[in-house]
Amino acid sequence: MRTTYLVGNWKMHYAPADTRTFLARFLSRIGTVTAGREIVFCPPALSLESALEAVKSTPVSVGAQNVHHKESGAYTGEISAPMLQSMGVKYGIVGHSERRQYFGESDVLVNQKAVALLNCDITPIICVGETLEQREAGEAQVIVRQQVEAAVAGMDITRLIIAYEPVWAIGTGKTATPADAQEVHDVIRDTLRSLGDSQRVPILYGGSVKPENIDSLMAQPDIDGALVGGASLEVESFLRICQYN
Ligand code: PEP
Repeated sequence: MRTTYLVGNWKMHYAPADTRTFLARFLSRIGTVTAGREIVFCPPALSLESALEAVKSTPVSVGAQNVHHKESGAYTGEISAPMLQSMGVKYGIVGHSERRQYFGESDVLVNQKAVALLNCDITPIICVGETLEQREAGEAQVIVRQQVEAAVAGMDITRLIIAYEPVWAIGTGKTATPADAQEVHDVIRDTLRSLGDSQRVPILYGGSVKPENIDSLMAQPDIDGALVGGASLEVESFLRICQYN
């Protein structure tokens, strides 16, 4: 049995005061739905401390949206995995398509960042996914397979989470159909199998997940949770996603 993950990626939203307000409201409503479901909020780095304070003594966890691959040094503006570990951060997103697109992050760098997190006992959530052009050219499965192989090279893959996020579905309102998502998740599962995993790695879907589509996505056999951007910014929407049927 794989754990189910509902991960909110807040991107560049919510300073510390907004983080405290949001989480107080969310936590007062979440009740016991968390049994067997791991709920994770990934606020901006500036709000990590407020989020960690707010979720203390609750089953909800906190993750980072990014990390630098070196432990320390002259890297102005960056945050290292040991720093995140010292705060109590349990997860870290790496390879998000926005980082690949706007900050030029390569598969090699994604791999280095994931290794840096694992070295600090932080679980990497490694994002992969094809662009619209690649999908239309029939290359989605090949691209995703390559991204997974490159991202996990040389590491203990049983300690990872993979998130399949088709780039064309992120923040666009266009969701992959549950069947399309399942097809790629199956390819990822097959890739992981060939790298030595026996069904243990959770594979999340991300890309315009909302209350209206979470139930049908979660009904797919290889979808083990969701990485949620826009809909995780509203308490009611994210509650409903966490309470999927
Ligand atoms: C994301 O940022 O990872 C994401 C999936 O965004 P959205 O849910 O807004 O498409």
